[in-house]
Amino acid sequence: VTRLVLKVDVDTYQGLCHGVPRLLECLAAQRVAASFFVAMGPDHSGRAVRRFFTQRGFTAKMVRSNAFRLYGLRSALYGTLLPGPQIARSAPECLRRIRGEGHELGVHGNDHVYWHDRLSRLPLDAVAGEVERALATFRELVGGEPEGFAAPGWQLSAAAITVLDRGPFVYQSSTRGSAPYRPRIGGVLGRIPEIPTTLPTLDERLGLGEDAVKAVDDLAARLRPDALEVLTVHAEVEGGACLGAFVRLLERLRERVRFQHLGDIARALDPAKLPVCEVVAGELPGRAGSVSCQEQARAGNGLRATQ
Ligand SMILES: [Zn+2]
Repeated sequence: VTRLVLKVDVDTYQGLCHGVPRLLECLAAQRVAASFFVAMGPDHSGRAVRRFFTQRGFTAKMVRSNAFRLYGLRSALYGTLLPGPQIARSAPECLRRIRGEGHELGVHGNDHVYWHDRLSRLPLDAVAGEVERALATFRELVGGEPEGFAAPGWQLSAAAITVLDRGPFVYQSSTRGSAPYRPRIGGVLGRIPEIPTTLPTLDERLGLGEDAVKAVDDLAARLRPDALEVLTVHAEVEGGACLGAFVRLLERLRERVRFQHLGDIARALDPAKLPVCEVVAGELPGRAGSVSCQEQARAGNGLRATQ
């Protein structure tokens, strides 16, 4: 049977305060457990929306036309014309509710937009500062230590690998790929496992111009039997304009998969037995800009064997 992780990224204030409660209701109704990753710091999504407008090409155009529908007007102004609210601090009860309802809660960086746009050029101490700020907020609002870190915008760097290996994280889910591995960038080899997102996201399918029904059918058809699949959903998207599609997706998948937490997967992995894979920048259909990807399996490197 296919094991499926629903990885819920919460990038914005809107996503935490409005998207998360809706998603929690859907998940409870369908008795599905998910792994949530919350951006702990300021909401600067207006700067991300500004980024959409400077990108060229067909995909950027599609993403742009979806952006306001998916994110709303207020979010589009945070960090530009309006000051950005502190995401986690605005709704600590939401964080506790995620855990209280049996879901996993991890960290999705501090300032999502800063990490997404700047990580490739950030030195080690700047990356460490972002991770420390996120951890301090998590400890204060939630208590204890998070097990998982999910990089904002699927952006990973050598500096980020080094910082995340210092703990307390036991795994990360920061790239797009096919199966768990140890990531290597520029000769820096990670210690903790990387469990990549394996499936396209709903907003990428919409970015290709598909309607929501077709997008859900395509996603359901992609599940590999007996594999581990990780589907990233966004609190702003599936918990907002695409809620109906998300419910439809859960209904389609519920009978066919076993839902798991990323933390449970991570604890069952032996890092010494995981393949080492380079992380490379790649472009994905329906997504503007590049993301960090697990380099495709070359023959005989054992990637399939880890399934
Ligand atoms: Zn995100």
